[in-house]
Amino acid sequence: MCKFVKKKKGIDIMRKMGKKLVSMALAASMVLSMTACGGKTEETEAANTEAATTKAAETETETEAEAEAGNQQADIVVIGAGGAGMSAAIQAVQDGATDVVVLEKMPIVGGNTTRATGGLNAAETQYQKAEGIEDSVELFVEDTMKGGKELNDKELVTTMAEQSNDALEWVNELGADLTVVGMFGGASVKRIHRPSDTSAVGPVLVKTFSSQLEELGVPVLLNTKAETILVDENGAVSGVKVTDKDGNTTTIDCTSVVLATGGFGSNEEMVVEYKPNLAGFCTTNHAGATGDGIAMAKEIGAAFVDMDQIQTHPTVNPETQTMYTEGVRGNGAILVNKEGKRFVDELETRDVVSEAILKQTDGVCYLLFDQAVRESLAAIEGYIKAGIVTEADTPEELGEALGIDGAALAETLTAYAGYQAAGKDDEFGRESMELPLNQPKYYAALCAPAIHHTMGGVKINTSCEVLKEDGTAVSGLFAAGEVTGGVHGANRLGGNAVTDIVVFGRIAGSSAASYVEANGGHTEAEIKVEKAEEAAAPEVQGNYKDGVYEGTGKGNNGEIKVKVTVEGGNVVAVELVEHSETDGIYQTAEESVTAQIIKKQTTEVDTVSGATNTSKGIMEAVAQALSTAK
Ligand code: ADP
Repeated sequence: MCKFVKKKKGIDIMRKMGKKLVSMALAASMVLSMTACGGKTEETEAANTEAATTKAAETETETEAEAEAGNQQADIVVIGAGGAGMSAAIQAVQDGATDVVVLEKMPIVGGNTTRATGGLNAAETQYQKAEGIEDSVELFVEDTMKGGKELNDKELVTTMAEQSNDALEWVNELGADLTVVGMFGGASVKRIHRPSDTSAVGPVLVKTFSSQLEELGVPVLLNTKAETILVDENGAVSGVKVTDKDGNTTTIDCTSVVLATGGFGSNEEMVVEYKPNLAGFCTTNHAGATGDGIAMAKEIGAAFVDMDQIQTHPTVNPETQTMYTEGVRGNGAILVNKEGKRFVDELETRDVVSEAILKQTDGVCYLLFDQAVRESLAAIEGYIKAGIVTEADTPEELGEALGIDGAALAETLTAYAGYQAAGKDDEFGRESMELPLNQPKYYAALCAPAIHHTMGGVKINTSCEVLKEDGTAVSGLFAAGEVTGGVHGANRLGGNAVTDIVVFGRIAGSSAASYVEANGGHTEAEIKVEKAEEAAAPEVQGNYKDGVYEGTGKGNNGEIKVKVTVEGGNVVAVELVEHSETDGIYQTAEESVTAQIIKKQTTEVDTVSGATNTSKGIMEAVAQALSTAK
């Protein structure tokens, strides 16, 4: 079993290490080459020399033996490159940790975080103050506890609220620009902080964190799945067993693990095990949200809380599974049923709105808004481009286009404009009515509830230590984000997931760094990643006419246009001309798919999981371009 060499490490070593590590972010299909510490660096030798006690020397020998056996070495292994994992890795390095590595089983970073559309809830912020919004940590705690039906762990909620402003300042310092304050369901005041261009928050955060990891030289190993967390004879974390994209299993020895694998909203079996009435529901989750972290933590004795608390998001397109951000309602939209009538306070908590929708005809409703709402939120343009919004010049025509009673729709809108003008919703008591909804055009989007957030998970304390049933911690194991339980209780408020992942991700990173400081790190890792993109060269001879060709394909959100260059009969480059795919997802699909096309000289290549439609769109566009190159 592993013991660790106490090393004296400093920021200089970290910087030098950073330069040697070829970091990667937002890139698919990268080749992972993890070098065992046999080929050690000068810095490693120096660090180990400084730690030359007899015990350390013995330990060093053991570590060498392990390395010879093929194990990799790191101080902190972060499992999962979503918002929580990336926040943890960045914070750990900011706290002086040197050998941090992030594992991501998918070909892209971001997880469910990429899909976050709303923003980050924070109280007592400079942006609220600038707008004269009176908020407090206490009110934030109160709203969150009320929204979670008081099932939440109040200590965790208090930590989240207290550190929310710091978290906001931190992400903005990294470049996220969450400066616009808005209203979301369950909040007593405007508290959600969104990107200044009103775009979805997830892609902005993922891009910001990825760039930061790259700058810090933290390797992010894509297509690398953590299978098991290893512990020593004392139950302390000692390593992680991983499988790479070629199916090879290796072990990374480490001192500490941050578990940030997200939830289990895409694991139908697991969802139904904990909440049978959700059988058959669609999900807003990315394909990797399968609860791996829950299984790994269970194996080493972690305790769990609130596993049956699974949230549905009320406004999801039942056909495409596109989630309409709560911001649409926050900015003014209402919900109407197939009879053209409102049926709920649209800004009620997600559980209440979801339940109300399920009681309507066919268990669906329409998200209804006007031109003014459209212009208030950039995210709406994405829904319109995706062809999932019906539009018309009048409410009557909209009703006709939807196949519902247009007169009833018009009546509903007139009544709502009256409530808005009076500042009092006589029917459902909605408090925030931003706009009168009387400015043509009118828009409607079909929606129904879908599995959204798994509130339950691994039990943690406010230092993000993973706890066992007896209340003691699993030494060296920290967890943050959707894999944990307790923060959101029975229902998560919109905007609290992002606060959760940043606040607790940072705490987990800090705790892991302190743990390594106190317990000694491992030998220096030399974990390298090499961009497939750089290695992409034709492996077979193509048979195309030399030239530059353009083609178009249908992606997830609309048309994708590409420019394909053929030289010496081979496709040598595929360039993006235009697209409206989700930032982050497009780049990943592009890198993987184009690298494969160039290697294989065919457009019949593998799609990137989590970006299937985008991959297909690129393949179709290249195929169309090449159809004229034969
Ligand atoms: P959070 O919001 O808590 O950060 P996300 O869903 O955004 O959660 O991110 C979790 C990430 O963890 C996802 O990118 C997911 O693919 C990744 N992940 C899940 N299980 C594993 C695993 N076994 N090994 C490596 N990465 C994993």
